[in-house]
Amino acid sequence: MNKDSEFILSEANRCLLCKNAKCQMKCPINTEIPEVIKLYREGEVHKAGEILFKNNPLSAICSIICPHENQCKGNCIKGIKGEPIEFYEIENYISEEYLKNLSFEPEKKLKDRIAIVGSGPAGITIAFILAQKGYKVTIFEKNEKIGGVLRYGIPEFRLPKNILDRIQELLIQLGVKIRPSTLIGPVLTIDKLFEDGYKAIFIGTGVWNPRKLNIKGESFGNAHYAIDYLKSPSVYNLGKKVVVIGAGNTAMDSARTAKRHGADDVTIVYRKGFEDMAATKHEIEEAKEEGIKFELYKAPLEIVDEGLILRETEKVVNEKGESKIIDKEGSEALYECESIIIAISQAPKNVIVVNNAGFMTANGLLVTHKGQTTREGVFASGDVVTGSKTVVQAIADAKIVAEAMDEYCNKLNSINNDI
Ligand code: FAD
Repeated sequence: MNKDSEFILSEANRCLLCKNAKCQMKCPINTEIPEVIKLYREGEVHKAGEILFKNNPLSAICSIICPHENQCKGNCIKGIKGEPIEFYEIENYISEEYLKNLSFEPEKKLKDRIAIVGSGPAGITIAFILAQKGYKVTIFEKNEKIGGVLRYGIPEFRLPKNILDRIQELLIQLGVKIRPSTLIGPVLTIDKLFEDGYKAIFIGTGVWNPRKLNIKGESFGNAHYAIDYLKSPSVYNLGKKVVVIGAGNTAMDSARTAKRHGADDVTIVYRKGFEDMAATKHEIEEAKEEGIKFELYKAPLEIVDEGLILRETEKVVNEKGESKIIDKEGSEALYECESIIIAISQAPKNVIVVNNAGFMTANGLLVTHKGQTTREGVFASGDVVTGSKTVVQAIADAKIVAEAMDEYCNKLNSINNDI
């Protein structure tokens, strides 16, 4: 995946190794960018890789899919007058080298049993940290393979899945047990996990319920939800002309995937403009380069057999400079297409909450305090707590929760020892 070593070295040599590096400060997981680049320049690739991995066990993945333009690259001092350093290319090179050679010996004397529900970036991070602390970790994953959105959302052309296979190997070396195709909630309940002796449970189940458009025709055979489509695009027969509704990364990924699966005319429909899109500029540019078309300032009104009825919208700005989008009545027109993919965000599935007592939610998201849910001994983080965010944010939050879980188990053990 990474660029050649000549480019990496010249990029590293351009770095000013700032003392109060803004790139590091604006990285959600506070990657020690100057230190890593310094070590790399000195030929200490292994040491640099170790720092990256200890801080972020998924640094090889973040180096590929983080929104760098808002983080390290967007805050590089060199970018003020010229080209910013592409640290993520250096990070990718070092992290992949490090992962290739990394190996673990499982702990001999194991501590308490920990259950991790969900193997997205949040669950994987908790597993790495707690297994390295000597806990007996089991991951429960409802899909066949680990990775969450990294495996079943972000397409292969953006993120090669062999990195996740390597991550799985390392988890297994650490002694982590993985139960694939196992849904926690209705049959294996939270109570059952505690009964079987798990000391603490982590929920990192993400957001997998598509949000509805709430328009007529949404249940028709030509309409699909992006989060379902991206899981297994090859089983869909979308036809040649496809519309994607939405403007986040999920919409860009769906449009680009549809193009790769045989659609030759793919259009993104959005009720606002490019400047309002949630997708990164990079993703939008890539989509444009691949021939994805955009119908902006258009809102979907109804799905029909022939396609989609759209109404034009308009941005109006008041005297205070505040803008809002209004519909232009009477501008309705049919946009002909064979299939429509709806990609307007996701919410959590409530399978754990409805089948297990004691969880408080707000707008469907789990309520937590310092990582602990309203149920004793059950912790949570990632998208199921924050709503759709980023991979690096899920990892950063999970690091804090892993420490809270360790503290919780230690406290429980010291109370039990005192009795
Ligand atoms: P998830 O990754 O959603 O993982 C949750 C896991 O829990 C899943 O494997 C699921 O199967 C499992 N699970 C759910 N319920 C149960 C249950 N009851 N029992 C057992 N297992 C269960 N972020 C970026 O930083 N960069 C990007 O480029 C980017 N692109 C994206 C593209 C798409 C299409 C999507 C949908 C999101 C994207 N994101 C991106 C967001 C990012 O992927 C998420 O913020 C991140 O994956 C959240 O991690 P998580 O561990 O909380 O949840």
